[in-house]
Amino acid sequence: MAGEAKEKCAVVGALSANIEVDAAAITFLGLDALQHRGEEASGIASISYGGQFEIQRGKGQVPFVHDEEAMSRLAGNVAVGHNRYSTSGSKEQNFGPMSDKAIHFALSLNGTLPSTLKLERYLDGHNIRHENTNDFGMMSYALAQEIRNGKEAPEAIEKTYPLFTGAFSCVAMHDDMIMAFRDPFGIRPLSIGKIADGHMVASETCALDMANAEYIGDVEPGELVIITKDGLERKQLVDSLGHKLDMFEYVYFSKLDSMLYGQRVGSVRRHFGEQLASEYPLDGKNYLVVPVPDSSVPVAEGYADALGLQHTTAIIKNRYRGGGRSFMQKNQELRQKYQKLKHTVIPEFVKDRDLIVIDDSIVRLNTMPVICELLEAAGARSITVLVSSPPIRFPDFYGIDTPDQGELAAANFTVAEIEKKLSKCRKLGYLSLAGMIKATGLPEEVFNLSCFTGDYPIDIGYHKKEIYTPVSMEFAD
Ligand code: 5GP
Ligand code: MG
Repeated sequence: MAGEAKEKCAVVGALSANIEVDAAAITFLGLDALQHRGEEASGIASISYGGQFEIQRGKGQVPFVHDEEAMSRLAGNVAVGHNRYSTSGSKEQNFGPMSDKAIHFALSLNGTLPSTLKLERYLDGHNIRHENTNDFGMMSYALAQEIRNGKEAPEAIEKTYPLFTGAFSCVAMHDDMIMAFRDPFGIRPLSIGKIADGHMVASETCALDMANAEYIGDVEPGELVIITKDGLERKQLVDSLGHKLDMFEYVYFSKLDSMLYGQRVGSVRRHFGEQLASEYPLDGKNYLVVPVPDSSVPVAEGYADALGLQHTTAIIKNRYRGGGRSFMQKNQELRQKYQKLKHTVIPEFVKDRDLIVIDDSIVRLNTMPVICELLEAAGARSITVLVSSPPIRFPDFYGIDTPDQGELAAANFTVAEIEKKLSKCRKLGYLSLAGMIKATGLPEEVFNLSCFTGDYPIDIGYHKKEIYTPVSMEFAD
């Protein structure tokens, strides 16, 4: 079951030597700040003050799963947590963290292993059944097996690490130890913070801020960070093959207040807007720049400010709908229905205006046609659509949740054809690949850009055969 989409989960871990510091509460705060990385399910495992292994997992958002009762049971000096991103056909048993209660072991994963051949061979060799287990479960079985065989947890990670082929940022707990490790390319983020008499790790720095931790750096690609009551120890497990952070962290996934590779996500999004302005310098009094909330708000501001255009919140996102994000619904029909309910428009703001609508990406083309229809119905005079990433033409097995290339609009239609599908849209423009990279202020080599280019830094195994040449490659340079 490799490739099951759950790439955008959140992981958190905390450990403190101070009895006054509740690592489970810190983990809760971190998960809460990382709700955007997954709201289908949440879980926390801890070693309680009484030395018990405790775990709380359930469907739904962080505060609902971890109620007062759960949090008082979990209270202790060591904890790991996980938020799960919604997927179709998810099984309850796959909620994180994975755990092996008997040996006080738990594992949280953000990532996916597009190829699990080596892992399966290992598990078969140890007579461990894994038929109904996903990549996440298999990793946890392999690690637990080594610990059961008497290895210290860091050694167990070192031993099994070569079995993991994919994108992974992991946090494991074993007794009173937290271990954080990352794939050799560092596709998904993982940051380290200092808390009172201890440390915390989390998918994004916004989680550290929420928990009042001081950001001290990242777990490096290929590195294992071991946190104990005595402090923090770092070990490079394999030579890093060079950073390949998923560009989609900047485009869509990370929160605006997080720092990634020294850059504030909100600032990078603003630069995307400024770059769009230099690639599409529209001007005229009747123009109004309108973001598709939330991810595109700073992009639209950057764009409008660069050109001296007016911008306003004219598209409203309906939040608090339990599950928020629409693209994970089981089928296209459901997705489209759900999408229709997701946004509304303020007609007085858009009537008779020439709108420049900005969104961060077009994936399956569910959102933008609906937005354009709504704006047209509200009386817009014209619509220009600008997208702050290049066309997504290739499935992404460690990035966005798009394993099926057949569903990707830009793999199957030219930009002109997509433009035609958007009512009243007189121009559709994507940010160029070079422009997007430039806007990050970082060199191209540090990014995974596979969904735009089809170049996969990590072996995607049998998925290679499924990939076809898109109808066009405009905007891909
Ligand atoms: P589309 O509607 O074209 O399939 O998807 C584009 C929309 O989905 C954009 O509004 C974008 O903000 C959002 N989006 C982009 N990537 C992701 C993702 O990985 N997950 C979710 N839930 N939404 C995404
Ligand atoms: Mg959006």
